Amino acid sequence: MENIIELKNIGYSYHSLQGETVALKDISFGVKKGEFLAVVGPSGCGKSTLLSIIAGLLAPEEGTITVNNPDGSLRYPRIGYMLQHDHLFEWRTIYQNVILGLEINHMMTEERIAYVNQLLKDYNLEKFRNKRPSELSGGMKQRAALIRTLALEPQLLLLDEPFSALDYQTRLFVSADICNLIRAAGKTMLIITHDLSEAISLADRIIILSRRPAVVKQEIPIRLTLPDDSPLASRNAPEFQYYFNLLWKELSEDEGQEA
Ligand code: ADP
Repeated sequence: MENIIELKNIGYSYHSLQGETVALKDISFGVKKGEFLAVVGPSGCGKSTLLSIIAGLLAPEEGTITVNNPDGSLRYPRIGYMLQHDHLFEWRTIYQNVILGLEINHMMTEERIAYVNQLLKDYNLEKFRNKRPSELSGGMKQRAALIRTLALEPQLLLLDEPFSALDYQTRLFVSADICNLIRAAGKTMLIITHDLSEAISLADRIIILSRRPAVVKQEIPIRLTLPDDSPLASRNAPEFQYYFNLLWKELSEDEGQEA
């Protein structure tokens, strides 16, 4: 399968009066169309910096990002975000929240509004369309945040610790639910998480970054035998513990060492 974007030898440093902080060094990997890729690494190693570079918010100091569009154009893929909080506005109804991106981007076409309405129905949010975010459960708010993201029809979704504000049990269900919906929508996803179990259960491949300056330590393809289709199925897979131990070993080598 073809890579939708490809990073080659990416390097980035922050410069301040106190000196230089090298965040990323020689990072190379691709993201395949339709793939779910998770990036894990010690805290402060450069994960958010990497995401900002892929999002086009920061220009890499070294290296290149290549884009492969099916039509051969050089257009950068349309990117959607889900961040640490759902960022729904309480002063807007759920419907007004999910169309916010369309409004801001002057993209309120009939087709896109129809798509949003369809997603509200598909995701069982139709009867909440005139409610305020505080009237919804954590899981429903995440579904609304996903609709707002999908409304702009992104090709690549970037998720930065999107479920970290939820309590543990809700998180298990919501992360599985949201990722199933993203898969069903046929999108490509790159998720940053420090939760190793989450990475194993959601991703097709995991990239392990070293402590700062971050380099790619290892890429691990994940193949799980799923006992059933429950949200917990992947965590009950026979291979789960093997992957967990592998990631744990790699990451614990870097923990506690000064960069
Ligand atoms: P992570 O997301 O893995 O926790 P970040 O990408 O946020 O790591 O940060 C990587 C390193 O760069 C950290 O040491 C952090 O302190 C430093 N850093 C991040 N943003 C800035 C900035 N704007 N100016 C200077 N240093 C920064």
